[in-house]
Amino acid sequence: MARLAKCMFCGSDLEPGTGLMYVLNNGTIMWFCSRKCFKNYNMKRDPRKLKWTLKYGSKTR
Ligand SMILES: [Zn+2]
Repeated sequence: MARLAKCMFCGSDLEPGTGLMYVLNNGTIMWFCSRKCFKNYNMKRDPRKLKWTLKYGSKTR
């Protein structure tokens, strides 16, 4: 059974079989819906400040 993942950056749902999986040295698995999200995550951008993410405007944390 495939588990649904969410993009670590923009917060959108990923269909099974889509997106980019990134595994950290400590074994944590991170999912990204696109290279764009992966790039922005690596640049330590705040998704709450980017209009194209689902987290835009979110006030949680
Ligand atoms: Zn994304």
